Amino acid sequence: MDLKSLNLGRGKWVVANCGKFPSEKNCRLVIMAPDSQRGDLVDAAATHAAARHGHQNTPQLRKELDSFLDVVEI
Ligand SMILES: [Zn+2]
Repeated sequence: MDLKSLNLGRGKWVVANCGKFPSEKNCRLVIMAPDSQRGDLVDAAATHAAARHGHQNTPQLRKELDSFLDVVEI
């Protein structure tokens, strides 16, 4: 199976990539969403950061996570 067979749909996708950041857990979680669901992605990433990395799920954290998102074209 390759990425294409996931049938994600064409367009811009936003990606939260935990592996970009050094962590004691070597977390490699990647979460993706269509650009139109950027808010959902930030929700999921904030939940993950709070549950697994000890962050406080605050508006400030969500703002920071949002600024770390990558955008890819599929
Ligand atoms: Zn993580």
